[in-house]
Amino acid sequence: MPVSILDLVFPSVCLWCSEQSGLLCERCLDRLPKTAIEVFRGEGMSFRGAAFGRLDADAKLFLHEVKDRQQTAYLKAIGPHLAASFDNQLEHLGWQSAQLVPIPPSQRGWSSRGFNPAESLVRELVRHSRFPLKLTRAIEYRRTVDDQRVLSASQRSQNLAGAFVVPRPDRLHGPKAIFIVDDVVTTGSTILAARSALAEAGFEAAGFFAFAETFLKNATTGTKWV
Ligand SMILES: [Zn+2]
Repeated sequence: MPVSILDLVFPSVCLWCSEQSGLLCERCLDRLPKTAIEVFRGEGMSFRGAAFGRLDADAKLFLHEVKDRQQTAYLKAIGPHLAASFDNQLEHLGWQSAQLVPIPPSQRGWSSRGFNPAESLVRELVRHSRFPLKLTRAIEYRRTVDDQRVLSASQRSQNLAGAFVVPRPDRLHGPKAIFIVDDVVTTGSTILAARSALAEAGFEAAGFFAFAETFLKNATTGTKWV
């Protein structure tokens, strides 16, 4: 049988279970988390946010496809599920609308990928949410930072301390509830540095949202996933 053009563009088996279905099968989509996980980071675990799920093997495989192989169709395939998870958290916190501020990619991320996975995540939330959400590119790097993936927890925190800036606070007009969005939350150094930058500009972040959350398994050697 000749290879169809669709087979070249879209994978023909489910990423997670290899069933013949294309992208992600119905059964795997049905098994996705229905409610967000509450996640706490920062001093005394005082910064409250949420994650779509844990960084398990399926989530790692998913992120590898999306981030390293630019298979953003996978992100689109779970867009409604991601938005339902975020909506669940937004409602839980008593908000009716929000601004979503994606973490910008480091210099290294830009040069190797050419797109921002956190911003792609925000786009899916905006597209599928039941609430009016606004994408706000408010945060930029003030200086270059080292690759977080090879650093310990304390090194990560130092690496990112004061790393972000809000160059144009006027961009943050709109809904009062500001959520920082990243693909993965590990030690929380990144979202906490983003929260500090927002605070310096006079804005209090209402929380954060990530695709997946995890803790550093081996703080001395670091982990592959940031
Ligand atoms: Zn499947």
